Amino acid sequence: MEQTLVILKPDAVQRGLMGEIISRFERIGLKMVAARFVMVTSELAEKHYPIDRESFLRGMGEKTLENYTKMGVDPVDKLGTADTLEIGKMIREWLIQYMQESPVFAFVLEGPHVVELVRKVCGHTLPLLSPPGTIRGDFCFDSSYLANTAKRAIKNMVHASGSVEEAQYEIPLWFAKDQIFSYTRVEEKVMG
Ligand code: GDP
Ligand code: MG
Repeated sequence: MEQTLVILKPDAVQRGLMGEIISRFERIGLKMVAARFVMVTSELAEKHYPIDRESFLRGMGEKTLENYTKMGVDPVDKLGTADTLEIGKMIREWLIQYMQESPVFAFVLEGPHVVELVRKVCGHTLPLLSPPGTIRGDFCFDSSYLANTAKRAIKNMVHASGSVEEAQYEIPLWFAKDQIFSYTRVEEKVMG
C-alpha cells in the first residue's frame, strides 16, 4: 500500500477550491490518513524543495526551456541564462516564497498506486499542457512564460509527490508518525 503527500497550494486556498479538489480524491476511493492546515515556515519550504536535488532543479529548468522554445523566446534574453540548473535554482526561490503566501492544506493519501494515480488526477506541471478533467487543467491556465516573466512560481493549485521515493522523503517533513492514522473506508470491501 502506497502513501503520497498532497498540498493544496496558496492559490487553491485563496480561491476557495479546497473542498472541490479534495472531493476529486475522495470519490476515487483514496483514503486520507493525515491532514494539516498550516502556515509554512521558510525552513519547511526549503526542505520540501531541497537545493541538493539536482534532477528536480534541472527538471524545472527543462520545463522552462521547452515552453520558451515552443514560444520562440530566448532564455538568455529573459532570464540571463540557458543553464537548466541555474534556471531551476531561480524558480526554487520563487517557489519557497509562493508556498508562504497563505496557509496551505497538506494531507496524505493512501491506496494502491496512489502516487501515480494522484499525479494523473493533478495533470501536467504546466496548466497550459494539462488536459481538461485534471485539477490543473480545469482550474488554472499558467505557463512557464507567464510565471517567469512575473518572476514567480507557476500557480498550479496542487503539489503531489512525484515518486514513491519522493513521498517517503516528503511525508515525514510534514507529519509526525502519530499524526498519520489507520482506518477502514467502506469501499475497501467492494473495491479491494
Ligand atoms: P510538479 O511535481 O508537477 O509540481 O513539478 P516540479 O516538481 O517540477 O516543480 C515544482 C513546482 O515548481 C511546480 O509545481 C510549479 O509551481 C513550479 N515550477 C515548475 N516549473 C516551473 C517553471 O518553468 N517556471 C516557474 N516559474 N515555476 C515552475
Ligand atoms: Mg515535483
